[in-house]
Amino acid sequence: MAAEGVNARLNPLENAERQFDEAAARLGLDAGLKEMLKRPRRATIQSLPVVMDDGTIRVFTGYRVQHSIARGPAKGGIRFHQDVTLDDVAALAAWMTWKCAVADIPFGGGKGGIVVDPRTLSLRELERLTRRYAADLSDVFGPDSDVPAPDVNTGEREMAWIMDTFSMHSRRTEYAVVTGKPLEVGGSAGHREATGRGVRICVEQVCRHIGMPLEGARVAVQGFGNVGGVAADLLARECGARIVATSDVSGAIHNASGLDVTALLAHVAAHKGVAGFAGGQPLGTSILEYDCDILVPAALENQITGENAARVRAKVVAEGANGPTTPDADRILDGRGVWVIPDILCNSGGVTVSYFEWVQNRMGFYWMEDEVNIRLREKMEHAFADVLATVVREKCSLRIAAYMVAIQRVLKVHELRGMYA
Ligand code: GLU
Repeated sequence: MAAEGVNARLNPLENAERQFDEAAARLGLDAGLKEMLKRPRRATIQSLPVVMDDGTIRVFTGYRVQHSIARGPAKGGIRFHQDVTLDDVAALAAWMTWKCAVADIPFGGGKGGIVVDPRTLSLRELERLTRRYAADLSDVFGPDSDVPAPDVNTGEREMAWIMDTFSMHSRRTEYAVVTGKPLEVGGSAGHREATGRGVRICVEQVCRHIGMPLEGARVAVQGFGNVGGVAADLLARECGARIVATSDVSGAIHNASGLDVTALLAHVAAHKGVAGFAGGQPLGTSILEYDCDILVPAALENQITGENAARVRAKVVAEGANGPTTPDADRILDGRGVWVIPDILCNSGGVTVSYFEWVQNRMGFYWMEDEVNIRLREKMEHAFADVLATVVREKCSLRIAAYMVAIQRVLKVHELRGMYA
Protein backbone atom coordinates (compact mmCIF):
# COMPACT_ATOMS: atom_id res chain seq x y z
CA MET A 1 0.00 0.00 0.00
CA ALA A 2 1.15 3.53 -0.65
CA ALA A 3 2.85 5.94 1.69
CA GLU A 4 4.84 9.08 1.23
CA GLY A 5 7.72 7.86 3.38
CA VAL A 6 6.45 6.78 6.78
CA ASN A 7 8.00 9.08 9.33
CA ALA A 8 10.16 6.70 11.33
CA ARG A 9 10.64 9.19 14.17
CA LEU A 10 6.96 9.07 15.11
CA ASN A 11 5.83 6.13 17.18
CA PRO A 12 2.16 5.22 16.54
CA LEU A 13 1.90 3.82 20.09
CA GLU A 14 2.74 7.24 21.56
CA ASN A 15 0.16 8.80 19.23
CA ALA A 16 -2.51 6.27 20.22
CA GLU A 17 -1.79 6.89 23.91
CA ARG A 18 -1.92 10.67 23.52
CA GLN A 19 -5.31 10.43 21.80
CA PHE A 20 -6.59 8.12 24.54
CA ASP A 21 -5.22 10.34 27.34
CA GLU A 22 -6.97 13.42 25.99
CA ALA A 23 -10.36 11.70 25.88
CA ALA A 24 -9.79 9.95 29.23
CA ALA A 25 -8.98 13.31 30.85
CA ARG A 26 -12.28 14.76 29.59
CA LEU A 27 -14.08 11.74 31.04
CA GLY A 28 -12.27 12.21 34.36
CA LEU A 29 -11.04 8.61 34.54
CA ASP A 30 -8.93 7.75 37.56
CA ALA A 31 -5.34 6.65 37.10
CA GLY A 32 -5.93 2.92 37.71
CA LEU A 33 -8.78 2.66 35.21
CA LYS A 34 -6.78 4.59 32.66
CA GLU A 35 -3.85 2.24 33.06
CA MET A 36 -6.12 -0.79 32.75
CA LEU A 37 -7.76 0.46 29.54
CA LYS A 38 -4.53 1.61 27.98
CA ARG A 39 -2.32 -1.44 28.37
CA PRO A 40 -2.59 -4.43 26.01
CA ARG A 41 -3.90 -7.55 27.70
CA ARG A 42 -1.48 -9.86 25.98
CA ALA A 43 1.33 -9.72 23.43
CA THR A 44 3.24 -12.55 21.80
CA ILE A 45 6.40 -12.54 19.70
CA GLN A 46 7.06 -15.49 17.40
CA SER A 47 10.24 -16.65 15.74
CA LEU A 48 9.05 -18.23 12.53
CA PRO A 49 11.55 -20.49 10.76
CA VAL A 50 10.70 -21.06 7.11
CA VAL A 51 12.43 -23.28 4.55
CA MET A 52 12.98 -21.10 1.50
CA ASP A 53 12.73 -22.35 -2.09
CA ASP A 54 16.52 -22.67 -2.30
CA GLY A 55 16.61 -24.96 0.76
CA THR A 56 18.02 -22.37 3.19
CA ILE A 57 16.23 -21.53 6.43
CA ARG A 58 15.16 -17.96 7.24
CA VAL A 59 13.73 -16.98 10.59
CA PHE A 60 11.04 -14.28 10.47
CA THR A 61 9.54 -12.37 13.41
CA GLY A 62 5.79 -12.31 14.02
CA TYR A 63 3.62 -10.50 16.55
CA ARG A 64 0.07 -10.75 17.85
CA VAL A 65 -1.25 -8.29 20.39
CA GLN A 66 -4.63 -8.54 22.11
CA HIS A 67 -5.35 -5.10 23.47
CA SER A 68 -8.78 -5.85 24.92
CA ILE A 69 -11.09 -8.84 25.22
CA ALA A 70 -13.68 -7.07 27.38
CA ARG A 71 -16.44 -6.66 24.78
CA GLY A 72 -15.77 -9.97 23.02
CA PRO A 73 -13.04 -11.84 21.15
CA ALA A 74 -9.99 -9.80 20.12
CA LYS A 75 -10.50 -8.63 16.54
CA GLY A 76 -8.08 -7.18 14.06
CA GLY A 77 -5.99 -7.71 10.98
CA ILE A 78 -2.54 -9.08 10.24
CA ARG A 79 -0.03 -6.85 8.47
CA PHE A 80 2.95 -8.02 6.45
CA HIS A 81 5.48 -5.19 6.32
CA GLN A 82 9.24 -4.92 6.50
CA ASP A 83 9.08 -2.03 9.00
CA VAL A 84 6.40 -3.33 11.38
CA THR A 85 7.35 -3.24 15.07
CA LEU A 86 5.75 -4.51 18.27
CA ASP A 87 4.83 -0.91 19.16
CA ASP A 88 3.07 -0.47 15.80
CA VAL A 89 1.08 -3.64 16.38
CA ALA A 90 0.22 -2.58 19.94
CA ALA A 91 -1.03 0.81 18.68
CA LEU A 92 -3.05 -0.81 15.92
CA ALA A 93 -4.53 -3.29 18.42
CA ALA A 94 -5.63 -0.46 20.71
CA TRP A 95 -7.23 1.37 17.78
CA MET A 96 -9.17 -1.85 17.02
CA THR A 97 -10.59 -1.87 20.57
CA TRP A 98 -11.86 1.69 20.19
CA LYS A 99 -13.01 1.05 16.61
CA CYS A 100 -15.10 -1.99 17.53
CA ALA A 101 -16.60 -0.05 20.45
CA VAL A 102 -17.49 3.00 18.30
CA ALA A 103 -19.00 0.68 15.68
CA ASP A 104 -20.79 -1.08 18.54
CA ILE A 105 -19.89 -4.61 17.50
CA PRO A 106 -19.20 -7.30 20.12
CA PHE A 107 -15.43 -7.56 19.80
CA GLY A 108 -12.34 -6.42 21.62
CA GLY A 109 -9.22 -5.29 19.79
CA GLY A 110 -6.17 -7.11 18.45
CA LYS A 111 -3.61 -6.89 15.67
CA GLY A 112 -0.86 -9.02 14.21
CA GLY A 113 2.16 -8.49 12.06
CA ILE A 114 5.06 -10.25 10.39
CA VAL A 115 8.28 -8.38 9.64
CA VAL A 116 8.57 -9.14 5.94
CA ASP A 117 8.35 -7.46 2.57
CA PRO A 118 6.04 -9.99 0.91
CA ARG A 119 7.18 -8.90 -2.55
CA THR A 120 10.56 -10.53 -1.86
CA LEU A 121 9.03 -14.00 -1.30
CA SER A 122 7.75 -16.54 -3.81
CA LEU A 123 4.11 -17.58 -3.53
CA ARG A 124 5.05 -20.87 -1.84
CA GLU A 125 7.40 -19.15 0.61
CA LEU A 126 4.62 -16.71 1.48
CA GLU A 127 2.21 -19.59 2.06
CA ARG A 128 4.70 -21.45 4.28
CA LEU A 129 5.34 -18.29 6.33
CA THR A 130 1.62 -17.53 6.73
CA ARG A 131 0.82 -21.11 7.76
CA ARG A 132 3.75 -21.19 10.19
CA TYR A 133 2.45 -18.03 11.84
CA ALA A 134 -1.12 -19.38 11.99
CA ALA A 135 0.05 -22.75 13.38
CA ASP A 136 2.14 -21.02 16.01
CA LEU A 137 -0.90 -19.00 17.10
CA SER A 138 -3.40 -21.86 16.87
CA ASP A 139 -3.89 -21.77 20.64
CA VAL A 140 -4.42 -17.98 20.55
CA PHE A 141 -6.73 -17.67 17.53
CA GLY A 142 -10.30 -18.98 17.70
CA PRO A 143 -13.86 -17.85 16.86
CA ASP A 144 -14.46 -17.05 20.54
CA SER A 145 -11.03 -15.77 21.48
CA ASP A 146 -9.17 -13.94 18.71
CA VAL A 147 -10.34 -13.46 15.12
CA PRO A 148 -7.77 -12.11 12.63
CA ALA A 149 -8.48 -10.42 9.27
CA PRO A 150 -6.59 -8.76 6.41
CA ASP A 151 -4.55 -5.58 6.84
CA VAL A 152 -1.71 -3.96 4.88
CA ASN A 153 -0.31 -6.45 2.29
CA THR A 154 -2.62 -9.32 3.26
CA GLY A 155 -5.94 -10.30 1.72
CA GLU A 156 -8.31 -13.12 0.89
CA ARG A 157 -5.55 -15.54 -0.16
CA GLU A 158 -3.72 -15.30 3.19
CA MET A 159 -7.00 -15.54 5.13
CA ALA A 160 -7.88 -18.77 3.29
CA TRP A 161 -4.49 -20.24 4.30
CA ILE A 162 -5.03 -19.19 7.92
CA MET A 163 -8.54 -20.67 7.98
CA ASP A 164 -7.22 -23.92 6.49
CA THR A 165 -4.24 -24.17 8.88
CA PHE A 166 -6.42 -23.55 11.92
CA SER A 167 -9.03 -26.03 10.63
CA MET A 168 -6.39 -28.72 10.05
CA HIS A 169 -5.19 -28.28 13.62
CA SER A 170 -8.71 -28.44 15.07
CA ARG A 171 -9.69 -31.38 12.81
CA ARG A 172 -12.83 -29.61 11.55
CA THR A 173 -13.70 -26.68 9.31
CA GLU A 174 -13.63 -23.45 11.34
CA TYR A 175 -14.72 -20.63 9.04
CA ALA A 176 -15.38 -18.18 11.88
CA VAL A 177 -11.73 -18.14 13.04
CA VAL A 178 -10.81 -15.47 10.51
CA THR A 179 -12.65 -12.89 8.39
CA GLY A 180 -11.95 -11.42 4.98
CA LYS A 181 -11.93 -14.87 3.36
CA PRO A 182 -12.78 -15.60 -0.29
CA LEU A 183 -16.53 -16.02 -0.87
CA GLU A 184 -16.12 -19.73 -1.67
CA VAL A 185 -14.69 -20.53 1.77
CA GLY A 186 -17.02 -18.62 4.06
CA GLY A 187 -16.36 -15.04 3.01
CA SER A 188 -19.08 -12.39 3.04
CA ALA A 189 -20.50 -10.55 0.08
CA GLY A 190 -19.42 -6.92 0.27
CA HIS A 191 -16.40 -7.48 2.53
CA ARG A 192 -13.79 -6.35 0.02
CA GLU A 193 -15.52 -3.02 -0.53
CA ALA A 194 -16.64 -2.51 3.07
CA THR A 195 -13.92 -0.17 4.35
CA GLY A 196 -14.16 2.08 1.27
CA ARG A 197 -17.95 2.00 1.47
CA GLY A 198 -17.79 3.06 5.12
CA VAL A 199 -15.46 5.95 4.21
CA ARG A 200 -17.97 7.09 1.59
CA ILE A 201 -20.82 6.95 4.15
CA CYS A 202 -18.83 9.00 6.70
CA VAL A 203 -17.85 11.61 4.10
CA GLU A 204 -21.49 11.93 3.11
CA GLN A 205 -22.55 12.36 6.74
CA VAL A 206 -19.97 15.03 7.53
CA CYS A 207 -20.75 16.94 4.31
CA ARG A 208 -24.41 16.93 5.24
CA HIS A 209 -23.58 18.25 8.71
CA ILE A 210 -21.38 21.11 7.50
CA GLY A 211 -23.56 21.89 4.47
CA MET A 212 -20.92 21.13 1.85
CA PRO A 213 -22.31 19.61 -1.36
CA LEU A 214 -20.61 16.31 -2.18
CA GLU A 215 -21.71 16.54 -5.79
CA GLY A 216 -18.81 18.15 -7.64
CA ALA A 217 -16.56 18.22 -4.51
CA ARG A 218 -12.84 17.80 -5.29
CA VAL A 219 -11.34 14.72 -3.63
CA ALA A 220 -7.67 13.69 -3.30
CA VAL A 221 -7.01 10.08 -2.29
CA GLN A 222 -3.66 8.85 -0.93
CA GLY A 223 -3.47 5.09 -1.55
CA PHE A 224 -5.46 3.46 -4.35
CA GLY A 225 -5.85 -0.05 -2.93
CA ASN A 226 -8.76 -1.82 -1.26
CA VAL A 227 -9.67 1.25 0.77
CA GLY A 228 -8.70 4.28 -1.33
CA GLY A 229 -9.60 2.75 -4.70
CA VAL A 230 -13.05 1.67 -3.53
CA ALA A 231 -13.75 4.96 -1.70
CA ALA A 232 -12.74 6.93 -4.82
CA ASP A 233 -14.94 4.78 -7.02
CA LEU A 234 -18.01 5.09 -4.78
CA LEU A 235 -17.55 8.82 -4.14
CA ALA A 236 -17.31 9.42 -7.89
CA ARG A 237 -20.00 7.03 -9.12
CA GLU A 238 -22.57 7.25 -6.33
CA CYS A 239 -22.05 10.79 -5.04
CA GLY A 240 -20.88 12.71 -8.11
CA ALA A 241 -17.62 13.82 -6.45
CA ARG A 242 -14.58 14.63 -8.61
CA ILE A 243 -11.41 12.62 -7.87
CA VAL A 244 -8.72 15.15 -8.70
CA ALA A 245 -5.58 13.36 -7.45
CA THR A 246 -4.46 9.97 -6.22
CA SER A 247 -1.25 8.11 -5.41
CA ASP A 248 0.14 4.70 -4.55
CA VAL A 249 3.57 3.05 -4.31
CA SER A 250 4.00 3.45 -8.08
CA GLY A 251 3.59 7.25 -8.02
CA ALA A 252 1.02 10.06 -7.92
CA ILE A 253 -1.23 11.50 -10.63
CA HIS A 254 -3.70 14.35 -10.88
CA ASN A 255 -6.28 15.90 -13.16
CA ALA A 256 -8.01 19.06 -11.93
CA SER A 257 -11.11 18.35 -14.01
CA GLY A 258 -11.47 14.87 -12.50
CA LEU A 259 -9.88 11.46 -13.12
CA ASP A 260 -11.99 8.79 -14.84
CA VAL A 261 -12.02 6.36 -11.89
CA THR A 262 -13.44 3.40 -13.83
CA ALA A 263 -10.65 3.70 -16.40
CA LEU A 264 -8.09 4.22 -13.63
CA LEU A 265 -9.22 1.04 -11.82
CA ALA A 266 -8.75 -0.89 -15.08
CA HIS A 267 -5.29 0.70 -15.52
CA VAL A 268 -4.31 -0.29 -11.96
CA ALA A 269 -5.51 -3.87 -12.50
CA ALA A 270 -3.38 -4.12 -15.64
CA HIS A 271 -0.26 -2.19 -14.53
CA LYS A 272 -0.26 -2.74 -10.73
CA GLY A 273 -0.24 1.00 -9.98
CA VAL A 274 -1.63 4.40 -10.89
CA ALA A 275 1.61 5.61 -12.54
CA GLY A 276 1.41 6.01 -16.31
CA PHE A 277 -2.37 6.51 -16.40
CA ALA A 278 -3.14 8.37 -19.63
CA GLY A 279 -6.07 10.32 -18.15
CA GLY A 280 -3.90 12.25 -15.67
CA GLN A 281 -0.54 14.00 -15.31
CA PRO A 282 2.21 12.94 -12.90
CA LEU A 283 2.03 14.89 -9.65
CA GLY A 284 5.37 16.27 -8.50
CA THR A 285 4.23 17.66 -5.14
CA SER A 286 2.72 16.04 -2.04
CA ILE A 287 -0.79 14.73 -2.57
CA LEU A 288 -1.59 15.69 1.04
CA GLU A 289 -1.18 19.35 0.10
CA TYR A 290 -3.18 19.16 -3.13
CA ASP A 291 -5.89 21.77 -3.63
CA CYS A 292 -9.09 19.84 -2.83
CA ASP A 293 -12.18 19.87 -0.62
CA ILE A 294 -11.83 16.36 0.79
CA LEU A 295 -8.60 14.48 1.50
CA VAL A 296 -8.71 10.71 2.02
CA PRO A 297 -5.42 9.39 3.47
CA ALA A 298 -5.81 5.66 2.81
CA ALA A 299 -2.24 4.39 3.04
CA LEU A 300 -0.15 4.13 6.20
CA GLU A 301 0.20 5.91 9.55
CA ASN A 302 2.00 9.21 10.30
CA GLN A 303 1.34 10.95 7.00
CA ILE A 304 -0.18 14.26 8.19
CA THR A 305 2.21 15.58 10.82
CA GLY A 306 3.02 18.77 12.70
CA GLU A 307 5.34 19.57 9.82
CA ASN A 308 2.85 19.50 6.90
CA ALA A 309 -0.60 19.92 8.54
CA ALA A 310 -0.65 23.68 7.99
CA ARG A 311 -0.35 23.06 4.25
CA VAL A 312 -3.33 20.66 4.02
CA ARG A 313 -5.93 22.51 1.97
CA ALA A 314 -8.91 20.19 2.36
CA LYS A 315 -11.89 21.10 4.56
CA VAL A 316 -12.57 17.43 5.36
CA VAL A 317 -9.98 14.73 6.06
CA ALA A 318 -11.44 11.21 5.97
CA GLU A 319 -9.04 8.70 7.53
CA GLY A 320 -9.25 5.52 5.48
CA ALA A 321 -5.91 4.39 6.93
CA ASN A 322 -5.18 3.71 10.59
CA GLY A 323 -3.32 6.52 12.33
CA PRO A 324 -2.53 8.75 9.32
CA THR A 325 -2.74 11.97 11.39
CA THR A 326 -0.46 12.62 14.37
CA PRO A 327 -1.74 14.43 17.51
CA ASP A 328 0.36 17.51 16.62
CA ALA A 329 -1.29 17.61 13.20
CA ASP A 330 -4.70 17.12 14.79
CA ARG A 331 -4.21 20.23 16.88
CA ILE A 332 -3.25 22.29 13.82
CA LEU A 333 -6.14 20.97 11.69
CA ASP A 334 -8.63 21.42 14.51
CA GLY A 335 -7.43 25.01 15.03
CA ARG A 336 -8.03 25.70 11.34
CA GLY A 337 -11.57 24.27 11.46
CA VAL A 338 -10.78 21.20 9.31
CA TRP A 339 -13.15 18.28 9.94
CA VAL A 340 -11.05 15.16 10.52
CA ILE A 341 -13.15 11.99 10.48
CA PRO A 342 -11.05 9.74 12.73
CA ASP A 343 -9.86 6.30 11.64
CA ILE A 344 -11.72 4.50 14.44
CA LEU A 345 -14.97 5.77 12.93
CA CYS A 346 -14.11 6.42 9.29
CA ASN A 347 -12.57 3.02 8.44
CA SER A 348 -14.77 0.93 10.73
CA GLY A 349 -16.79 -0.38 7.76
CA GLY A 350 -14.23 -3.16 7.26
CA VAL A 351 -14.44 -4.61 10.72
CA THR A 352 -18.21 -4.13 10.75
CA VAL A 353 -18.57 -6.40 7.73
CA SER A 354 -15.99 -8.72 9.33
CA TYR A 355 -18.49 -9.00 12.17
CA PHE A 356 -21.24 -9.80 9.65
CA GLU A 357 -18.98 -12.46 8.11
CA TRP A 358 -18.37 -14.03 11.55
CA VAL A 359 -22.12 -13.99 12.24
CA GLN A 360 -22.88 -15.63 8.87
CA ASN A 361 -20.20 -18.28 9.46
CA ARG A 362 -21.73 -19.16 12.81
CA MET A 363 -25.26 -19.32 11.35
CA GLY A 364 -24.15 -21.14 8.24
CA PHE A 365 -26.51 -18.89 6.29
CA TYR A 366 -25.27 -16.23 3.90
CA TRP A 367 -26.72 -12.82 3.06
CA MET A 368 -27.05 -11.14 -0.31
CA GLU A 369 -24.75 -8.16 -0.89
CA ASP A 370 -27.65 -5.71 -0.60
CA GLU A 371 -28.44 -6.95 2.88
CA VAL A 372 -24.80 -6.56 3.94
CA ASN A 373 -24.68 -3.01 2.57
CA ILE A 374 -27.97 -1.99 4.18
CA ARG A 375 -26.83 -3.30 7.57
CA LEU A 376 -23.44 -1.62 7.13
CA ARG A 377 -25.04 1.74 6.40
CA GLU A 378 -27.32 1.35 9.42
CA LYS A 379 -24.38 0.61 11.74
CA MET A 380 -22.23 3.43 10.36
CA GLU A 381 -25.00 6.02 10.52
CA HIS A 382 -25.66 5.10 14.15
CA ALA A 383 -21.97 5.33 15.01
CA PHE A 384 -21.63 8.67 13.23
CA ALA A 385 -24.72 10.08 14.98
CA ASP A 386 -23.44 9.00 18.43
CA VAL A 387 -20.07 10.65 17.78
CA LEU A 388 -21.61 13.82 16.36
CA ALA A 389 -23.93 14.17 19.36
CA THR A 390 -20.83 14.05 21.57
CA VAL A 391 -19.09 16.70 19.41
CA VAL A 392 -22.05 19.02 19.85
CA ARG A 393 -22.32 18.37 23.59
CA GLU A 394 -18.61 18.48 24.42
CA LYS A 395 -17.52 21.02 21.80
CA CYS A 396 -14.61 18.80 20.82
CA SER A 397 -13.20 17.24 17.66
CA LEU A 398 -14.71 14.16 16.02
CA ARG A 399 -11.66 12.19 17.18
CA ILE A 400 -11.97 13.04 20.85
CA ALA A 401 -15.73 12.44 20.65
CA ALA A 402 -15.21 9.02 19.03
CA TYR A 403 -12.75 8.08 21.78
CA MET A 404 -15.16 9.25 24.45
CA VAL A 405 -17.98 7.15 23.01
CA ALA A 406 -15.68 4.13 22.72
CA ILE A 407 -14.08 4.42 26.15
CA GLN A 408 -17.47 4.73 27.82
CA ARG A 409 -18.70 1.58 26.07
CA VAL A 410 -15.65 -0.44 27.09
CA LEU A 411 -15.83 0.92 30.65
CA LYS A 412 -19.49 -0.04 30.97
CA VAL A 413 -18.65 -3.64 30.10
CA HIS A 414 -15.84 -3.72 32.68
CA GLU A 415 -18.26 -2.34 35.25
CA LEU A 416 -20.87 -5.03 34.48
CA ARG A 417 -18.39 -7.91 34.26
CA GLY A 418 -16.49 -6.78 37.36
CA MET A 419 -12.87 -7.42 38.12
CA TYR A 420 -12.00 -11.12 38.42
CA ALA A 421 -9.43 -11.51 41.16
N1 GLU B 1 -7.53 -4.34 9.13
C1 GLU B 1 -8.84 -3.75 9.19
C2 GLU B 1 -8.84 -2.60 10.19
O1 GLU B 1 -7.81 -2.08 10.54
C3 GLU B 1 -9.94 -4.78 9.41
C4 GLU B 1 -9.89 -5.50 10.71
C5 GLU B 1 -10.93 -6.62 10.84
O2 GLU B 1 -11.79 -6.75 9.98
O3 GLU B 1 -10.83 -7.36 11.83
O4 GLU B 1 -9.87 -2.16 10.60
